[in-house]
This record gives sequence, C-alpha cells and structure tokens, in this order.
Amino acid sequence: MTSRVIAGKYVLGQRDGGQVLLQDHYVYLDGAKIEAVTRDAPAPGQDVIRYEHGLITPGFVNLHAHCIRGGLFRGIPDDLEMEPFIPKLVYNILLPLTSIAARELSAEELRAVTTLGMVDLIKGGTTTLLDMWHHGQEIFFDVARELGLRTVGAPFIMSASNSRLGPDGYPVWDFGNDGAAQLARSIALFKARDQGTDGLAQVAIGPHATDTCLPELLRECRGAADDLGCILTTHFAQTPEELALLRKRYGMGAAEYARHAGLLGRNVVLAHAGCATDNELKVLADTGTSVANCALSFAREGINFPYARFAKAGVNTGLGTDSHGMDFIGEMRTTGLLSKQYFGKGHFGTAHELVRAGTLNGATALGRPDLGRIEAGAKADLLVFDLWKPHLQPIWDPIKNIVWKGHAGDIALVMIHGEPVVRDGRLLTADEAAIMRTAVVAAQKIWNIAEQRQILPARP
Ligand SMILES: [Zn+2]
Repeated sequence: MTSRVIAGKYVLGQRDGGQVLLQDHYVYLDGAKIEAVTRDAPAPGQDVIRYEHGLITPGFVNLHAHCIRGGLFRGIPDDLEMEPFIPKLVYNILLPLTSIAARELSAEELRAVTTLGMVDLIKGGTTTLLDMWHHGQEIFFDVARELGLRTVGAPFIMSASNSRLGPDGYPVWDFGNDGAAQLARSIALFKARDQGTDGLAQVAIGPHATDTCLPELLRECRGAADDLGCILTTHFAQTPEELALLRKRYGMGAAEYARHAGLLGRNVVLAHAGCATDNELKVLADTGTSVANCALSFAREGINFPYARFAKAGVNTGLGTDSHGMDFIGEMRTTGLLSKQYFGKGHFGTAHELVRAGTLNGATALGRPDLGRIEAGAKADLLVFDLWKPHLQPIWDPIKNIVWKGHAGDIALVMIHGEPVVRDGRLLTADEAAIMRTAVVAAQKIWNIAEQRQILPARP
C-alpha cells in the first residue's frame, strides 16, 4: 500500500537493467520499498513530497570511508611536503593520531566525532555506507541507527602491532597482534548486529591491508566471510612501498598475492588498488572482485588513481569518499576530471558513468540488487537535487549539471529506507549544532595532545 509519493521534474529510473532519465514521473513508496515509478498522478489526500524542479536519483552507495576520521583529520594531511608521502603521512601522523583518539576520547566525544562524520556523509548524498573502524568503536551502529543511515560496518582485523616507519622509509611492524581474536570479535559482532537485507545494519569482515595482515589471517578472514555470507573488504595496492614489501616478503605481485591470500571474488571489495598493473586489474575483473575508487584522497598527494582506469579494465568499480571529504558529488567530479586527464580525452569518466558507479556498481559490490536503483521492489533510498539554482539552470542534461556544476548543498531531500533524513537541506534526525560543538572540543583535545608530542605539522 502506498505510504508516500515523491514528485519532481526528473527521475533517474531503471529500464532493461540500465539507468534512464524519465520526465514527469512519480515515485510511489510502500514503507521501506519503492512500489512504482509511474506517470500516474497521486490521488488527493496522498502524502506527497514535491520538488517542482527536483531531480530524483538513487542514494549513493559509498564503498569506502572512515567516518570517525573525517573530523579528526580535517585540514591536517592537505598541502604537506613529505617523502615518501603516504608511508610518512600514515605512520608518522595518521596512525599516532588514531591511537591518541582511541585512548583519550570519552564515550560521548567518540559518539560526537562519529556522528559528525556520518552527518557530513548523509548531507553529501551517501545513503549506504561501507565503513572501516577499530574494534571498540561499535557505537558506529548506534549512531547510524539514530541518524537513519544504512551501513555496513567492518572493524579492522590485523596481524601487525606497534607499526612505525623504518629509517629506509619502509614501514616496520611487530606481528604481535592476535588477529585471530579480532576476527572472532568480528564474527561475534556479525551474529549480534547484522540485520540482513531487511534492516539498516550489516557487518563485513575487514582485514586492514595486505601488508599489515599475514596471509594466513587473510585466508581465515575470507573463510569467515564466505561462511557468514558477507562482504570482505580491505586496503589493497595503495602504495609502491606496499607492493615492494609483498615482493620482498612473499616474492609475489599484488594480484598474485591477492589470489594466494584469498582476496579475490564476488564478495570482496578492495579499496584503492591504484598501484595494480593493467594486467593485475584484469585478474580482478575476471574474478568479479570489486574496487572502491577514492580518487580525492590520493589526488591531494599528487597521485592519480582515476575511475576510468579501473572501469576500462572491466573491474566493477564503485566510489568511496575515504576520510578526506564526505561530499559524494565532489568525489565524482574529481575522479571524472582525473580520468579525462589520465587518458587525455574528454569522453572518459562521464557524468552518467560516475553516477552509475556511485549507485549501481556500489550496490553490485555489496551484493545488494535492491540498492542503488529507482524501480519497483528496490529499497526507498533516494535523493532529490533541487535544480532551481543559478549554477544549475538552464538544463540540457540534469545529470551532467549535478556532477560537473553541483555540490552537496543542492541535495534537498535524503530518504533512506523510506524515511526522510534530510528535508529542504536540513537534517531531521539529530541536532547538528550540538554535534558540532562536542565534536570540535573532542578534536581540539586530540590535536593538543598530538601537538605536544610533535606529531602534527605546524599550524598557520
Ligand atoms: Zn581506507
């Protein structure tokens, strides 16, 4: 039975398995699901949410993020000069900051910082979030439930402990962590919190990365994901240093090692994969392994991991915001422009391709044919962009307008599981100002400690 109708000027609907732009259609909802997409006008008295100049799109499926870090790292990694950049950034700044946060944040501060990141994501158009965090931060699920966000939570599992950077610029670890205990915790979490495809919360198995996990642990993680019928996600082929290490330790390239460690297959989402060769990307494509492309995070370091390179190799490639910025449209535009730069052609990384990547491809990666599309039977996760703005008028192609000219502030309505979470650009499920006040104090506390230990770069 119809519970609500969404009306706009355009709907990005589905036809024959692909996306199609419809005009003057209505989206009828039945609770958490889409009931119909039709030209039939709603009957008098029906609950209609109407945006006269609205573009209705599926909500974005964010394939890789760390929402807790959004606030804690804000403004810190940008514009730095370091060599080699990523190992130094990760091991000398970000990991120490994370461990200070793990020790020093009160439960209320952790909640505020997590909420800030999630609110930023929701207002940026994310309606499904695959997010990696540390065991002990399970409040992630409580915050997501309160805000009304659909999530797949993947707490880190790793063999490495006491990680640091060696004098040669390569990371050094003691493998003293009990990854098996962390995996057991993740399995218990799955049994306690996973709601399947009917609810808002799912749990995934999240080994941290190929260099911080030993291959035996990675294979155990894969076995657990297969047994539970869930997603496995991990960081993969992020840096030349990581690949050099795999070569040194195991005598294998990235894809060969991924096969050896059980990291290929339809239920695997590899974050980044930017240092994989074209032949290695073919291996990912042939095995149905998905990639989460987060171009912005790397672009700030002068590294180009463009969406189109993975797509061209035939890999199912979705998009993620990582922990840099949570505006999904900004992420699409960056990876689209980087794609054009990489190939030297304007037709790579098109707006329609990027929206498909951020919706359908993301849903495919998560094994969720009920997400990322507006058609009868799919979950009612959708966005309405208000196109009545000077930077979005006139309209030749509304999809091109939002990707190349739009921003998060154009999202008037965010609906998840049939419920409005943002309406007229305003968050309905929490007090934004209160969240910001507490999160700012929490981040400042962590930054002060880090500054005393001379971990952070100088402030202006
Ligand atoms: Zn990550």
